[in-house]
Amino acid sequence: MSPPSELAALFALGLLRGKVAVVTGGGTGIGKVIAKDLAWAGARVALASRNLERLEIAAADIRAAGGEAAAFACDVSDPASVRSLAEAVASRYGRADILVNNAAANFIWPSEKLSSVRWSKVVDIVLNGTLHCTLELGRPMLEAGSGRIVNIAATYAWTGAPGLAASASAKAGVVALTRTLGAEWAGRGVLVNAVAPGPIDVPQTRERLWPTPEMQRKVLSSVPLGRFGREADVSALVLLLASELGRNIAGEVIVTDGGQSLGRGALDMLDALSVVRRKR
Ligand code: NAP
Repeated sequence: MSPPSELAALFALGLLRGKVAVVTGGGTGIGKVIAKDLAWAGARVALASRNLERLEIAAADIRAAGGEAAAFACDVSDPASVRSLAEAVASRYGRADILVNNAAANFIWPSEKLSSVRWSKVVDIVLNGTLHCTLELGRPMLEAGSGRIVNIAATYAWTGAPGLAASASAKAGVVALTRTLGAEWAGRGVLVNAVAPGPIDVPQTRERLWPTPEMQRKVLSSVPLGRFGREADVSALVLLLASELGRNIAGEVIVTDGGQSLGRGALDMLDALSVVRRKR
């Protein structure tokens, strides 16, 4: 199987051979690339989200490239649906060794106009969904004494993000859950960590967050590295945390954001001192 992204090629072929990985939201965007890269590294991959048709296409792409993947319909916000997912994965593959909690939803809305229905919807998917999947798929890992869980957080969990109160708050919960289980479960063989991306250029963000060149320029002006992240930037860190390379990491949140979360102050200071010429 040829490597699906340039960064995955840095990892040895077969790094995850024999492992079973579940990726929520694996039919689109970042999750789709994570699933491909895990399969390239040798894992058998279960792709789970609500839209089965999209998942089937992503799973077929992986199989066509020589990997093993299957699609499972699941709404992570519904505990019964997540229980069925865990049962279906166990019956097809025997167990799950790796869980990537990637599924999420958000919308941009002024906080003072936020209804409790919208708030709850986002929190149910992002935070509660992460918890449901972690418990259902994590309990058998604890029994087996081994497993890896990688949560996809976001840097705005701690920087905040105007218009994204529900998502930022839910992601902050995901970070707290990561650190808590990182401590609670590490001694029992299950390592829980997170990757926190900054702005990643995927169809969803291109359409909803930076649809015009002007908006893209504005976002990029807040990124010291001057580039959008790509799906592979996230997936390479997931592979690191899911594999033996990450065997000594627990409760960690690894940032991939081109320096954006260093904040405006860092960039202004850089401009003021003219110490470093930034490429734009
Ligand atoms: P995306 O393509 O919209 O991915 C979201 C995925 O979540 C979709 O595949 C969706 O599939 C799934 N999903 C939504 N609700 C679900 C539910 N109730 N049950 C199961 N699956 C559900 O967006 P993305 O940018 O790739 O985001 C992937 C992850 O990266 C998310 O956790 C996001 O918060 C994080 N992130 C992204 C960026 C960025 O700039 N792109 C930055 C920071 C963090 P279905 O519709 O089929 O359910």
